[in-house]
Amino acid sequence: MLTDLQIAANVSGRKIASVNPATGELLREFECATEPEVQATVERARVAQPAWAELGIRRRLDLVSKFQRLLHQKKSELAQLVTREAGKPYVEALLTEVLVVLDAARFLIENAYRMLRDDPVPHGNLAMKTKSGHLVREPYGVIGIISPWNYPFSIAATDSLAALVAGNAVVVKPSEFTSLTAMELASLLHEAGIPEDVFQVIVGDGATGAALTNAAIDKLVFTGSVSTGKRIAQAAAARLLPVVLELGGKDPMLVLDDANVEIAASGAVWGAFVNAGQACLSVERCYVHRSLYEPFLEACVRKTGELRVGNGTDPETDIGPLIRERQLRNVESQVEDARAQGARVLAGGKRLPELGANFYAPTVLADATPGMRIMREETFGPVLPVTPFESDEDAVRLANDSEYGLAASVWTSDRTRGEALARRVQAGTVMVNDVVSCFGISEAPHGGVKASGIGRSHGRLGLEEMVRIKYLDADRLPGVEKVWWYGYGKNFTRQMEGLLDLQFARGLGRRLRGAVRAAGALKGKHRRSEIK
Ligand code: NDP
Repeated sequence: MLTDLQIAANVSGRKIASVNPATGELLREFECATEPEVQATVERARVAQPAWAELGIRRRLDLVSKFQRLLHQKKSELAQLVTREAGKPYVEALLTEVLVVLDAARFLIENAYRMLRDDPVPHGNLAMKTKSGHLVREPYGVIGIISPWNYPFSIAATDSLAALVAGNAVVVKPSEFTSLTAMELASLLHEAGIPEDVFQVIVGDGATGAALTNAAIDKLVFTGSVSTGKRIAQAAAARLLPVVLELGGKDPMLVLDDANVEIAASGAVWGAFVNAGQACLSVERCYVHRSLYEPFLEACVRKTGELRVGNGTDPETDIGPLIRERQLRNVESQVEDARAQGARVLAGGKRLPELGANFYAPTVLADATPGMRIMREETFGPVLPVTPFESDEDAVRLANDSEYGLAASVWTSDRTRGEALARRVQAGTVMVNDVVSCFGISEAPHGGVKASGIGRSHGRLGLEEMVRIKYLDADRLPGVEKVWWYGYGKNFTRQMEGLLDLQFARGLGRRLRGAVRAAGALKGKHRRSEIK
């Protein structure tokens, strides 16, 4: 039976729009790719992929270097485009989009050749010593990438670069809100020399994404919400399509009793409000030791009061608009729910209509409790809910009391204590004395546990997601029959018992006796006399 999304994907003429969230200006309208168009795109990628893989990793990395140079030359235009389409301040676009991608390219240029090389697999079992094994990394073929609007360039680009370097062709379906940024990524990659059919972008809505999931791709890397991630996992399960799912988060921040209040408050304010709180890694729950609670709140409110909200093109702006009014309504309803249940609104807690339809004031909430929606659901807006805790034990319990597990942070002046606590927090990443910036460490794997996802992007583990592992084993003595081939019998059984004793018996004497018995097996054909 066709789902509503599949039916929608067959219909041509569906339109999406790229709109500046700060001003409401229509930047461009697009027609959504239909299911047949998506299939044809994937087919072109499939045809182009073998030659791309054949090119070899060094040549592919040369093209990544060219892309890196071009991106650096066009850094300002690219960051301005991201600001116009996604709303974030220009300097954030430079740092969290352009710099992240320049550095991801640097990471691949420096490491991918070594990381994608065959790895020898030495054999410990004595019976297998005549063999030589290797792990071989092969491209999947065509990798589909479905990406969100909040980091429209860096997410699509870092995943695509890793997939391309590994020898795959790539088809990207960006969020319907940020098609222009994805098209700019395509144009930079093509200008660098990556063939057009090896990297393609299909624009469209959720139905177009569903069509890509159902097309003849070999793996899907999806970044987005938990609800869409679950639908994708279901569709993928039906045909055992491998997937990476980078989903939402409800990241806790734990401020221990020995933390520096001023520093931790600055980290909390930035971590909660960066990209107007629309970051998968943003601080969504802040737990503070009771002894620091009031000074911490005071510092957060003071620092929040100094922030300037406005159009991201203005260099003085700290916080831009939310992506759409619908997003604002979600934030608003969570804040109202918290307020109704007794949370104190110490800053913000309201829209800023004088700036435009999508602006929400950065908000500090005190006395948030675990039952409130603001402490359970992903907020994806500029809200910092704060709760006191009594002990480290308490802090760990509160942090782990969530269906999500993307990232977390621990704040303390004692690094050893912080690292020990970090090990007890259920999350894909835990930072001690910082937030969010792990996304900018190209070497660090990115991804979550629990409902926050499956698999990893970035770094070595992200690169490994883009290849199939083949185990290749070659025998060094092809002219010799293996002792374990047929020819079973009493003698052979005793010899094999000897082999097990040689390797695993306790005591040198038993091992040596085992060796003597096992040695008989090396004579090979002797056993055949027992076969009737
Ligand atoms: P969505 O899940 O709404 O959308 C993500 C992408 O999936 C978009 O391109 C969307 O298209 C597409 N899509 C929607 N429905 C389907 C479908 N049925 N089948 C296939 N594709 C579909 O997320 P958002 O774009 O709103 O992004 C925000 C979410 O992403 C947050 O939850 C955030 O935490 C998460 N995120 C996670 C990150 C991580 O690394 N873990 C990083 C960044 C964000 P369209 O937009 O056109 O509907």
